[in-house]
Amino acid sequence: MHEAEALIGGTWHTDPGGGTFTVADPATGEPIAHVTDGGAELTRRAVDAAAAAFPGWRALAADERAELMRRAAAELAARAESIGATMTSEQGKPLAESVAEVRSGADHLVWAAEETRRVYGQTVPGAGPDNRIWLLPEPVGVVAGITPWNFPVSMITRKLGPALAAGCTVVLKPAELTPLSAIAVGEAFTAAGLPAGVFNVVPTSRPADFAETVMADPRVRKVSFTGSTEVGRYLIRQSAQDVKRLSVELGGHAPVLVFPDADPEAAAAAVARSKFLNAGQACTSPNRIYVHRDVAARFTAALVKRAEAITPGLDMGPLIDARALAKVERHVEDALAAGAQAVTGGRRLDRPGTFYPPTVLTGVRDDMLICREETFGPIAPVLEFTGEDDVVARANATPYGLTAYVWTADLTRTLRVAEALEFGMVTVNGGPVAPPQAPFGGIKNSGYGREGGSLGVSDYLDYKYLSVGLG
Ligand code: NAD
Repeated sequence: MHEAEALIGGTWHTDPGGGTFTVADPATGEPIAHVTDGGAELTRRAVDAAAAAFPGWRALAADERAELMRRAAAELAARAESIGATMTSEQGKPLAESVAEVRSGADHLVWAAEETRRVYGQTVPGAGPDNRIWLLPEPVGVVAGITPWNFPVSMITRKLGPALAAGCTVVLKPAELTPLSAIAVGEAFTAAGLPAGVFNVVPTSRPADFAETVMADPRVRKVSFTGSTEVGRYLIRQSAQDVKRLSVELGGHAPVLVFPDADPEAAAAAVARSKFLNAGQACTSPNRIYVHRDVAARFTAALVKRAEAITPGLDMGPLIDARALAKVERHVEDALAAGAQAVTGGRRLDRPGTFYPPTVLTGVRDDMLICREETFGPIAPVLEFTGEDDVVARANATPYGLTAYVWTADLTRTLRVAEALEFGMVTVNGGPVAPPQAPFGGIKNSGYGREGGSLGVSDYLDYKYLSVGLG
């Protein structure tokens, strides 16, 4: 059995009380590791380490920080196969997807490393002839990161890259279901020579203890969270006590709008790729697939063909745990009971682990549970529409506002519909793209803050306004 510890100030720590928690492989249900249960005590020590490292890290020249980040990225990329194997064992996704995720995480760090040299200030007109005004960018300080299990490495590097580029130090709490990938990232960074305390990892099965500790500590100036809207709301409330700065990347309920002038087969191929990626456990996953009545039969046939070409256990992993499986089953049963049909899939697989097959539902209506709550599973609900205004209104009728997809060959429709959709990201004629230079993030109940691009770095900066009188 693998044993794993917390990374604090460049060294490995166990819980003083001897507490550990167990990590299991979702493909088998078998335990694979005992991990130190950090809790409040190790969280405090990690904040001590991050606070001690902050003055030195922020004082480095941008080029020096960039060089250390590039080395960390190179070390991460060099370990892509082994970290990928760790990720697959605790998260369940196919090995090729895990390895690609680690490489993409390294790519984000390389981009962020370059961005250290583009942390620009501003000069603005003075208030009179003898007055000069500058805006000076400064790192916010110690940052606490909280990440989910669905992308155990890229959700970390999306926070770490811009935070380190801005000059912040970080205390990370990975999801309790996937702490081993985060610990492996910590090992890579330590081996690459990142200064002690710049990046700390506190695994724990008591996330509220971590949150309460960092929220109450005035040295932590920002909390960056990716996860469910429910926990996001809790953290927003918690942040009030010390007026903590927050970024919250929360849940989504992505609509897809397939217009009759689009190629339904190409749309179905792309929807299948994004829907069944990570067994549907992505915040960008298509959750309501609105298809124009004239192309619905062709689209659905193509989607079903793609779904049936996927072999669970080979091309697609299990769901993360029994609770996730139960939610998927509940959503499908609710839809079927209310008149939807499962054209393919629709029942959990009779094998060990939490596998659910790629499923296509037709005859779905907006009032069904699956159209209102985030399913986080490989279920593609197909709904029909006829009018543009009507489908845009239906797509927007959700508290979430993360991603929307549009399929059309008409330029004017592209602009009209994209402008009318109330989502932080709209993709036309394609699947989800999240390169390091693009500002990923949502609106409404999907949260606020952006990860990626120069906006991502400015989320970790304060701008000090400096006014100088000349005489
Ligand atoms: P979750 O909210 O249950 O957990 C996310 C993280 O929050 C984990 O590290 C967990 O330990 C921690 N957490 C749980 N309770 C906490 C508490 N009381 N205080 C502090 N931390 C706490 O979400 P999940 O099930 O791990 O992840 C899936 C969710 O994440 C989905 O809703 C998905 O849409 C969302 N997500 C959003 C994005 C995005 O960029 N918008 C990306 C990936 C996932």
